[in-house]
Amino acid sequence: MRRLFSTAIAAMLFSAGAVAQDFPTGTVTIVVPFTAGGPTDTVARLVAESMSKDLGQQVLVENVTGAGGTVGAARVASAEPDGHTLLLYHIGMATSATLYRNLPYDTLNAFEYVGLVTEVPMTMVGKKDLPPSTFQELVDYVKANKDTVTMANAGIGAASHLCGMLFMSAIETHVTTVPYQGTGPAMTDLLGGQIDFMCDQATNTTNQIQAGAIKAYVTTSAKRIAPLPDLPTADEVGLKSFEFGIWHGLYAPKGTPSEVVDRLAKSLQVALKDATVVERFAALGTTPSTDEEATPAALKAKLESEIARWRPLIEAAGVYAD
Ligand code: ASP
Repeated sequence: MRRLFSTAIAAMLFSAGAVAQDFPTGTVTIVVPFTAGGPTDTVARLVAESMSKDLGQQVLVENVTGAGGTVGAARVASAEPDGHTLLLYHIGMATSATLYRNLPYDTLNAFEYVGLVTEVPMTMVGKKDLPPSTFQELVDYVKANKDTVTMANAGIGAASHLCGMLFMSAIETHVTTVPYQGTGPAMTDLLGGQIDFMCDQATNTTNQIQAGAIKAYVTTSAKRIAPLPDLPTADEVGLKSFEFGIWHGLYAPKGTPSEVVDRLAKSLQVALKDATVVERFAALGTTPSTDEEATPAALKAKLESEIARWRPLIEAAGVYAD
């Protein structure tokens, strides 16, 4: 009996080891729940290219958009748990857990955690010919034109939505919001002047701000962003409760073998130290996660604490997707 039991354990260990050794057996797909060309997509494509070299298999990015990122997350929650389908989602993974009361997955229990990927500040930006040039002028302008001014976001659950919500609540003024499937197309409309302003990750705005193609008013980071030294912080413009970072995590469907998850975490850590990734991230004001942060335990802790952080604020605002 005892022998039978130990043989069964040995078989289990052997097969888990074999799964990990063989992994990946084909293309790995990272689902990005926003449009191509946006900031989450940029992060995913840079990381995917480097992970691909490390894993010895193609790592592709697939954009599965809708409902502030929750459509893509749902796709991965129900995917085969073999490590070949992953999700790269940002802070929206935490806020959507409260914003959506009928999510088709249980945020804390539907995924295995691979690791934190990066953290990047938000920037508030306006179309080039928007009259205000400073943050205070923007506040005055928005208050004076609240019925006509338009603010883009990437849907309820997106980082741009959260940022816009905090801004409107800080200045006690509500404006018309225009949802997109990601801030890639929102940026196109901002550049074209069809939208007045929006919040977006520095990953997507830095180049346009540097080129003078859009106006920038404030960043949500505690310190100024290195490639945007003239942009004031929330604290500098006297904006309370507006300091937050957009963290991104890599997830696998629940039930993915732990050896596979660990292999993916190792690969993520390698990617985040890749010279090209480090250089591109720095140029876009994005900080790669450390080896300690790019781990399952760190991502799990982050998600749990972020759900707890945003839940009372969202509940107090009374904003829900349904
Ligand atoms: N920046 C978007 C957001 O607001 C997402 C994206 O397009 O990457 O969350």
